[in-house]
Amino acid sequence: MPTALHLPRVLENALWAHARRDAPAECVGAIGGHERPDGLYAHALYPLPNIAPDPVRHYLADPGHLLRALRAMQAEGLSLVALYHSHPNGPATPSRTDTQLAAYSVPYLIADLRGGSLLAYLLPDGRAVEIVLGTT
Ligand SMILES: [Zn+2]
Repeated sequence: MPTALHLPRVLENALWAHARRDAPAECVGAIGGHERPDGLYAHALYPLPNIAPDPVRHYLADPGHLLRALRAMQAEGLSLVALYHSHPNGPATPSRTDTQLAAYSVPYLIADLRGGSLLAYLLPDGRAVEIVLGTT
C-alpha cells in the first residue's frame, strides 16, 4: 500500500478552489498521476459533480463523470492515485460513512474548509490509516 502522496501546489490550490466553489455542499473529485517506489505522484485534478441526495452532508461522485475522468487519465498515461472530497464544516478526518463507503484502494483526501487543513487517508476494510501528504 502507498505510504505517501505528493501533490503539487497548483493542484492543491485547484482542489481548494473547487471546495470553496461547491460550499456549502461537499465537493468531490479524482486525481490522476503515477505510482513510484517512494509514493504516489499527482499530475491532474478531475472535479466531479456531487450527486448525493444531501450534498451538504455527503458526497457521491457522478458515476458517468468518474468513468470519463478514468478514461481521460488512461488517455494521458495516468492512473487513479487519489480521490478527494471536502468537509465544509470540518474536520479533515473521515466520517463513519466515508470509511464504510470507500470502494477504492487509493488514498482519500479530505479538505476541511473551516480549519483549512488537508489530510490523506487509506480507508481499507472500514479503517482509516493516515498517510503522508507532501505538497511541493
Ligand atoms: Zn466525508
